[in-house]
Amino acid sequence: MKGSIKLFKLFGISINIHITFLILPIIFFTIGGFKGLFVIIAVFVLVTFHELSHSLVAKRHGVVVKEITLLPIGGVASMGSIPEKPQQEFEISIAGPLLNILMAILFFVPLYSLLGQKALFSPSFETWPQAIAYLFWINLMLAGFNLLPAFPMDGGRILRSFLAQRMGYLNATKIAVNFGHIFALIFGFIGLISQPPHILLIIIAVFIYMAASAEETQVESKEILKNFKVKDVLPKDFLTVSPNTTISKVLEIVFHSHQEDFPVVENGALIGFLTSQDIVSNIHKLGIERPVKDIMRKQFPVVTRANSLISVQLMMQEDNIKAIPVVEDGIICGIVSLEDIGRVYSMLR
Ligand SMILES: [Zn+2]
Repeated sequence: MKGSIKLFKLFGISINIHITFLILPIIFFTIGGFKGLFVIIAVFVLVTFHELSHSLVAKRHGVVVKEITLLPIGGVASMGSIPEKPQQEFEISIAGPLLNILMAILFFVPLYSLLGQKALFSPSFETWPQAIAYLFWINLMLAGFNLLPAFPMDGGRILRSFLAQRMGYLNATKIAVNFGHIFALIFGFIGLISQPPHILLIIIAVFIYMAASAEETQVESKEILKNFKVKDVLPKDFLTVSPNTTISKVLEIVFHSHQEDFPVVENGALIGFLTSQDIVSNIHKLGIERPVKDIMRKQFPVVTRANSLISVQLMMQEDNIKAIPVVEDGIICGIVSLEDIGRVYSMLR
């Protein structure tokens, strides 16, 4: 994710922190001194555990997990698409909140005997026992908030996985999205009638409402894309470049055509792929007179005309590219781009 700093790697997953997250230690230190700092570090560690729990179960189901990024609003695990199999989605989604509930239970007795009942049940930044008491409460809050049956919370996915066992995935999504909308409206209403209005609750309500709608759009677009193949959208014309073409020549082609990514062909064989990102990220370092072979990628996915558009879109997401060469019987026969896929979607939505 852009603007994030890589901290370390755990189980092959890199743990990142977004620079906007760094504002929180400052705020918490201002409010609670070192006790505030302790609490925000506890939040950081517990949110990381929560996301790791999702990620490890996801990995067990074959989902690619690239990284976990901590944002001020919570943690985000960047995963390949979560399986539409209800049982797997359920296991992946429940893993995070379940870990927090387990930790809350595990922490309860030691904290109770160490801090005493009074401090444990009145968490604050005033005394150290009260600050340490947050270890229990943060876990409960993470579990509780994430179990709300509304997208984008884990509870929304859990609800869908239950519904999807009884009906189609799309219908299950639509009902879960309606739940999300109802929750958002209730939160928004409570936020507005509070005296004074509860701004944070209103922001959360808007966030939930939009995320629920986005989930519906995404699932609908997947349903559409499943029914189309590469051959249905493959543009008739496409351009290739040779490994010795200079970047300046490629730029000229880009400006005069609709194509931004190019198969690199030598003696009729596909030997590389040059994406617009490769050009942009190298142009300042290497200048524009270098040949294509210096910056082209040698490892890239290819598809055939029979691939479904949904599988192509997934490959693009996993490799973070906007186009993929189409190859049949070892011969390049076109290039399919995110734009081509987007056109189908925008026409049929
Ligand atoms: Zn979660």
